[in-house]
Amino acid sequence: MTDFKNRKFETNAIHCGQIPEDGTGAVTTPLHMSSTYKVGFPGDESGYVYSRWSNPTRKALEEVLAALENGTDAFAYASGLASITAVLHLLEPGDHVVAVDDLYGGTHRLFERLMKKFKIEFSYVDGTNAENFKNAIQDNTKLFWVETPTNPLLKLTDIEAVVEFAKGKDILVAVDNTFATPYIQKPLDLGADIVMHSASKYLGGHCDIIAGALIVKDADVAEKLHFNQYAVGGQLGPFESWLMMRGLKTLHLRMERHSMNAMKVAEYLETVDLVDKVYFPGLDGSKVPNKMTMPGGMVSFTINADVETVKKFSMSTKLFILAESLGGVESLLNHPALMTHASIPKEIREKAGVTDNLIRLSVGVEHIDDLIIDLRMAFAAISETVKQG
Ligand SMILES: *Cc1c(COP(=O)(O)O)cnc(C)c1O
Repeated sequence: MTDFKNRKFETNAIHCGQIPEDGTGAVTTPLHMSSTYKVGFPGDESGYVYSRWSNPTRKALEEVLAALENGTDAFAYASGLASITAVLHLLEPGDHVVAVDDLYGGTHRLFERLMKKFKIEFSYVDGTNAENFKNAIQDNTKLFWVETPTNPLLKLTDIEAVVEFAKGKDILVAVDNTFATPYIQKPLDLGADIVMHSASKYLGGHCDIIAGALIVKDADVAEKLHFNQYAVGGQLGPFESWLMMRGLKTLHLRMERHSMNAMKVAEYLETVDLVDKVYFPGLDGSKVPNKMTMPGGMVSFTINADVETVKKFSMSTKLFILAESLGGVESLLNHPALMTHASIPKEIREKAGVTDNLIRLSVGVEHIDDLIIDLRMAFAAISETVKQG
């Protein structure tokens, strides 16, 4: 382990866990594809044994992940949802979870359609008021599940306040930090117990992996998660580990540009007549909570038009690609009600504000002028329809 505590984020992203290899001198961490390892004697577990337990490439990745979130241990999984499942495996049947109501659709599906079968109970609250977490506590509450900023409405929860309500109550606080990334927000520093990532998004950063991660700072939680990782087998493969590590080296550069571009896109959208509401942290001049250092690259907005016109808009951009995911260098556009959040029943979805006229943008790192021109052309394509209607 390198001396990462004294070094800055950018330096750790490039060096932590990634020391030049003995023998070959390879500067880039090698891709270790071996499933199994030669041992010294029967029962020797002093080194690597089997890659479900530990793999040198995954281990290098887990070291850098722990350093970037200011944690002690990190665990890499085959997807973000696999990592959430590992957190839920810390619970017992009959336990209760309080979660924010504006959740990533797949998280909601996992909670409602799978975990309920195992007698885990869920309550959903508006996380913009941290008190709602306190008011939802029951005798059997064991986990607070926070997503901030949320997907797709970019609602913010004050992590420190939620942590305060969990104190002394045997309630773990887990934060889905996918949208902010540790470059912008470090939940463990704010008192959370577990940080979760869909690394398929910004951590990987190039729309070329499906991966997840958990980072913790408590030895007891770390031990349970480590057991779960090798007992369940949802760990990340070496190639994806290698790709994520490559992505992490430029995370700070990407997040700076994502945030700058997204701010300009949000400001532009506010000037468009057809746009009703723009969702973007800090756009209204309000202070961004959680000590977020910048707003990130996600912008959502509603168009003042019927769903067919909104669909037409979503198919009229040339640079913004109509696609499910987010967080890559390329700009993406999503229609949450029909895509990422389609699995949530309409009444629940609309009550939470995910209406049929909502568009979510993952603003990439292209030149901002080209991005604005692209959006302008798409608005021009629907403005005739709106006038006729
Ligand atoms: C994508 C996403 C997930 C799920 O992660 P996968 O890698 O797709 O399994 C969870 N939370 C948020 C906020 C996401 O955007």
